Amino acid sequence: MVNELKELSKNGLITDFGKKRVVVSGFCCDAPARSFILKTKGHTGFFSCSRCTIEGVYLENRVCFPSGNSFYKRTHSNFLNRSNNEYHLTDSVSLITEIPHLDIIFNFPLDYMHLVCLGVMKKLILLWLGSIKKAPLSVRLETIKGLTISNNLLLLKPFITSDFSRLPRGLNEVPRWKATEYRLFLLYSGPIVLQGMLNEDCYSHFICLHICFRILLTSNVESELIHFCEKLLIYFVDKFGKLYGKHFISHNVHGLLHIVDDYAQYGALDNCSCFPFENFLQFLKKMVRKFEKPLEQVIKRYNEYLTFSEFKDSTCKKDIDFRKPHNEGPIIDQCTGSQFKCIIIDDFKIDTQSIANCYVGFTKENQLHICKVENIYRNDHENVLIVKLFNNVEPFFTKPINSIKLQIANC
Ligand SMILES: [Zn+2]
Repeated sequence: MVNELKELSKNGLITDFGKKRVVVSGFCCDAPARSFILKTKGHTGFFSCSRCTIEGVYLENRVCFPSGNSFYKRTHSNFLNRSNNEYHLTDSVSLITEIPHLDIIFNFPLDYMHLVCLGVMKKLILLWLGSIKKAPLSVRLETIKGLTISNNLLLLKPFITSDFSRLPRGLNEVPRWKATEYRLFLLYSGPIVLQGMLNEDCYSHFICLHICFRILLTSNVESELIHFCEKLLIYFVDKFGKLYGKHFISHNVHGLLHIVDDYAQYGALDNCSCFPFENFLQFLKKMVRKFEKPLEQVIKRYNEYLTFSEFKDSTCKKDIDFRKPHNEGPIIDQCTGSQFKCIIIDDFKIDTQSIANCYVGFTKENQLHICKVENIYRNDHENVLIVKLFNNVEPFFTKPINSIKLQIANC
């Protein structure tokens, strides 16, 4: 692969759209895979952080990183010079460093799917449930509260919009939750079902994580908000030690101190996570039929796919699919076209008959508006949604930031 990438970077690739040079944007992988291909210490090692030279300590039978945010950041040249020798597993530097234009530190994003969803979020839930040894009693949920949370997660099912691939399951199924279920919990359902269940300190602490990832998963966020997020994550990691014990500040929890750097490099963290890769993996696996030259095989199969499949240009204007025609109104004078109950644009669906898919929100003149769609019109020149606006749009939380700023509201 390295040889092929060197060749593709130097001489490029002839395509129907001209000669294209191949540049690697990044390697998305989990911590064990990252240390395997970089020939560096695994995530349980004392010098295992891929972003800084912090030295872990051994507490309560585990390696942890409680020394806060005082650390030296690694750089590409430091890596090549082996300036932190304890980080490296072997005497030779990984072949990966020969890939042209690759920054060995920043082109290995931390991947929030593994680090946060399957890492920190899962750990927090297991601590609350008391399923991790030495979880402090002060943070544990009473059995009745755990059952209430599970019940409330199930009650949320009818309200989950159609663009989510999985519906919520109870906490009793946490060991079998997929990454996307932890994501749903962190970003949407958790703040609702945990309210009044966790103790106040743990709830506020969790809300900090929720806020940070709502921000870091949004494109084009103003730098002031990203800076706020960086400070909030420093607070989150420090408070994590105080609430749950310093020995629980694992490789993943410490990694939160570096994840904002990935936003600077890639933008919204969905641009550099394993989520799309996990979904695409099956498709990609079918393209490789023998061990030799996997990249070449993938490119050939992909060209065949483009030749024999309908080519979809992602920059084309998307088709709008109107469904469920009707004549039941409500109507307004200016609209004379056909009426529909459902409209689908890519994965985005509005359906006036579905409690999950009939609400939309938008920001106008810095004001958040939330409305219920009552009817959909297709006119000759424009499409019209007839909506009922909510008069009262109140923040869901006000500290450490007003939730309206993140488009989160009660109404
Ligand atoms: Zn670090």
